[in-house]
Amino acid sequence: MLDILCNLLGAAFLLPLGAALGSFFEVVLDRLPRGESLLWPPSHCRTCGHRLSADELVPVISYLVQRGRCRACDTPIGRGVPIREGLSGSALAVPWALAGCAQPGFALGTGIALLVAVWVVRGLLVGRASKAGR
Ligand SMILES: [Zn+2]
Repeated sequence: MLDILCNLLGAAFLLPLGAALGSFFEVVLDRLPRGESLLWPPSHCRTCGHRLSADELVPVISYLVQRGRCRACDTPIGRGVPIREGLSGSALAVPWALAGCAQPGFALGTGIALLVAVWVVRGLLVGRASKAGR
């Protein structure tokens, strides 16, 4: 019983952490191929330049609340963004939910490997798309 509670609490912590990491990797793969800084300007809409406020930066939740659109100009936000954020959160949380407290090293190692795999695949797809666009 205590193990189940421990696993669920750990997963509840790792889910938003993984989603936040996914959100950051989203920025990395959006900006680096364009030669842009990761730090400046702060997160903004590519269409209208609207700077995102804190409540527009919550992974997955903000997308759902805003119904997948920029709050300022109504431009659609790609559906892939919340999917990748959710996958990233799940990649860290699910191994922990299954085995975390009994085998923390294995659960965390598996979660990190899954998270890296999601973003390596995404990076390869972005790289392929940007080469095709040249
Ligand atoms: Zn906008």
